[in-house]
Amino acid sequence: MMNHKNRQEENLIIIGGGPGGLSASIYAARNGVAPLVLNGPEPGGQITTTSELENYPGFPESIGGFELTQKMTKQAENFGVRLEYESAEEVDFSGDKFSVKTEAGEYIADSIIIATGSEPKTLGLDKEDSLRGNGVSYCATCDAAFFRNKEVAIVGGGDTALWEATFLAKFASKVYILHRRDKFRGAKILGDRVKAKENIEILWNTEVKNLKGEKKLEGLRIFNNKTDEESGLDVDGLFVAIGHQPRTKCLKGQIELDDYGYIVTDKKQHTNIEGVFACGDVQDPDYRQVVIAAGSGAKAAIEASEYIEEKEDSFPAKEVKIKNYNEDNKSGKSADQEKEEGGLSLSLNLD
Ligand SMILES: Cc1cc2nc3c(=O)[nH]c(=O)nc-3n(C[C@H](O)[C@H](O)[C@H](O)COP(=O)(O)OP(=O)(O)OC[C@H]3O[C@@H](n4cnc5c(N)ncnc54)[C@H](O)[C@@H]3O)c2cc1C
Repeated sequence: MMNHKNRQEENLIIIGGGPGGLSASIYAARNGVAPLVLNGPEPGGQITTTSELENYPGFPESIGGFELTQKMTKQAENFGVRLEYESAEEVDFSGDKFSVKTEAGEYIADSIIIATGSEPKTLGLDKEDSLRGNGVSYCATCDAAFFRNKEVAIVGGGDTALWEATFLAKFASKVYILHRRDKFRGAKILGDRVKAKENIEILWNTEVKNLKGEKKLEGLRIFNNKTDEESGLDVDGLFVAIGHQPRTKCLKGQIELDDYGYIVTDKKQHTNIEGVFACGDVQDPDYRQVVIAAGSGAKAAIEASEYIEEKEDSFPAKEVKIKNYNEDNKSGKSADQEKEEGGLSLSLNLD
């Protein structure tokens, strides 16, 4: 049994330290609310598992996932954001103040932002994990461009798989759709679109038996689940598009979820509980991209800051301790002081 002896009061707790949570923390701190971020099992979020991002604005030569996370974390820390390497195990949103229990103790907060992300469902094959990022991908939007003029396979038969197959077909020379049934589950119009593409071939009743290759994917062993016939498929890439699982285990019945387990939010990131907001992949079944997670994090933080400011019995505000803007800045001045004096590298020179 856990020991919840420690009890800490906070204005804002952000559950999750991926792009959504980190962006929310930066916006909250700059709004004068000192947030506490619980980083959870995957500090930095899913993006730490990808070697390269080509679609995050501001990095024309692309940026590594880990490097982007480091920059976001540093930016948050510059604004005095406190990060704890703890996971929310249980929450209670029933009262006027919200409770979040972790292995270390209990936090009581005026407002909560949930940014726990999601994880792609896997096929559960041997080597699937070790070849992830080396031929095995769970995101065509992210990785299709790495397979220009190569042959790839995609597993799935729902809307996402069909949309991703047509997207992949713009880059790959050949796309095999491996579907375990004899018809698609996705929208007819998407099915018609893939059938019309010359470089897409559909293999019905087909499943992946195993993956070939050690350091990178070198092909697949597939089988027909009607005839049990096995064969090899020489592809450089395997995209798995069999759905995502939002991470909501710690919320257990405390908040409204949709039929697929995603948190239901309105356009301003409000959940059905006043004072509890959600951002990023945990409430986004459609886009699941860093730029969108960061954008929704910003919205959630603006809304949460307003909520805390207007709440009559909010805990006394903690001081937002702004650090030096970057490591090279040895002046000891705060970021605001630097900005006042035009020292920030972001300030525009319009001469
Ligand atoms: C291999 C791969 C490649 C990708 N490539 C791209 C790309 O090129 N471009 C792009 O835009 N997107 C890409 N994505 C998608 C992108 O990573 C996600 O859209 C984005 O990370 C979502 O951010 P998030 O903050 O909502 O959630 P996540 O990044 O999933 O972060 C969730 C955070 O919540 C924490 N957490 C979870 N449960 C708890 C808990 N109980 N308590 C406390 N904390 C918790 C985790 O530790 C983590 O810090 C890729 C994804 C993958 C997997």
